[in-house]
Amino acid sequence: MSYENTLSTEGAFQRYEEVRSRFPTAEFADRSKDCSGLTDIADQFDAFLLDSFGVLNVGDRPIPGATQCIARLRDAGKRLIILTNAASYTRDDAVERYHRLGFDFNKEEVVSSRDVTIQRLAQIAPSGRWGAVATPEDCFADIDADIRHWDGDDVDALVFLSSAVLSPDLFAKLEKALRNKPIPVVVANPDLVAPRENGLSKEPGYYAHLLADRLGLLPTFYGKPFGDAFDDAAARLEGVKPERIAMVGDTLHTDILGGRAFGAKTILVREHGLFAGTDVSAFVRRSQIIPDFQCDSI
Ligand SMILES: [Mg+2]
Repeated sequence: MSYENTLSTEGAFQRYEEVRSRFPTAEFADRSKDCSGLTDIADQFDAFLLDSFGVLNVGDRPIPGATQCIARLRDAGKRLIILTNAASYTRDDAVERYHRLGFDFNKEEVVSSRDVTIQRLAQIAPSGRWGAVATPEDCFADIDADIRHWDGDDVDALVFLSSAVLSPDLFAKLEKALRNKPIPVVVANPDLVAPRENGLSKEPGYYAHLLADRLGLLPTFYGKPFGDAFDDAAARLEGVKPERIAMVGDTLHTDILGGRAFGAKTILVREHGLFAGTDVSAFVRRSQIIPDFQCDSI
C-alpha cells in the first residue's frame, strides 16, 4: 500500500464523496445566501454550534476577529456551543486551550467527539477490554473503561482517538488483527483530514473507512456528521428549536451535512479551513451539500 500521510483538498473531497453512503442524509436549500459574518444574521438564531478548527482558530492561532464576534453574540444573548471533532484532549484540556487562544468558553459550552464517544463505550463493549489508538501522551483519566494504548495486544474492542501514531507498521498490524478477530471498532473523530502546516493530515476517520472498505466491518462513528454529537450539543440547549440553531463550520461533509441532518440551519466559513484558497462553490455544486449561508469569516 502506498503510505502517504497527507491528502490534497481535492483528494479529501473525493474520498468524502466515496464514503458518503456511510454518512447521514439530509435535505438542503436550493442555494446559499451570502452574509458578512454571524452578527449579520444573528437575529435569525437563538444558538450557534461552532466548529473550532477553521472557524475559531487555525492551529494555535485565533482567527482574526473571532474573539470579538463571540463577544458580540454573547452580548446579544445568543447561546454558544463548540461542537468539535477532537478526540485527543480531555474536556479540561480543551477548555484551557480555548482560554489560551483568548476565548471565554466554559466547560458546559464544549462538546467534543471524544466526550460523545467515551459516554457510549459501555454500550459497545460492556465490561470489555479496550485498546486505544492514541498518542503516547493521551491520558485516559476521563474514560470510565478498562482501556490501554493498543500495540497489537488481544482486546475486546478498539477505539480510535488519534491517527498520529499510525505508522505503516502499526496500521498493517491493526488490519491483520481485525482480519483474524473482528471486534467492534469505534471512531472518536470521523474527520478524514485536518489542515496542518504541511497539508491535510489523514485523521482517524480516514483509516477507519479504509478498514471498512478492506475488511467489510462497519465502525461506529461518534462526532459530526453523526447524530449523537448533535444530540449531546442540543441537550445543552434545552428549549431551543433546531431551526433556531445554526451550525457554523468549514467542512461540507461533517459540519454542513451533519447540521442539516440534525435539522439546524448551516453556515459555511470559507477562508480559514478545509476549503481555504479554493473555489468553494465548485465543491458545493459537486456534492450538492448546500449551506444555508456562506461567509468568508465569522
Ligand atoms: Mg473545522
